[in-house]
Amino acid sequence: MSVVYIGLGIVILLWIAGYLYGKHKNRNKVVCVVEDNCSGCRRCVKICTHHVLEMVKDETGIHAAVKYPDRCNACGNCMKRCKFNALKLIERV
Ligand code: SF4
Ligand code: SF4
Repeated sequence: MSVVYIGLGIVILLWIAGYLYGKHKNRNKVVCVVEDNCSGCRRCVKICTHHVLEMVKDETGIHAAVKYPDRCNACGNCMKRCKFNALKLIERV
């Protein structure tokens, strides 16, 4: 029975290590919009709980834009929602 507990403990530790590594890896990154790919669907704006993104209208049409980059924690949730490959993480400058 103790072998089961040890195995479970190892799995939990590996999960925590992976989570912390993922956070550290993206620490200095911020999302950016590839405007040519953006369809204007708003899915990214709706999913971001930090309100980083807004829709803008310019000469190229309506597309998402990074309005508040300082709020972005590079969680990647918006990228998972985007079906048009219009979001990516870049290094903060
Ligand atoms: S989810 Fe993608 S395609 Fe839709 S508005 Fe956001 S960046 Fe544009
Ligand atoms: S990476 Fe996360 S915090 Fe940054 S814009 Fe996307 S959903 Fe918001």
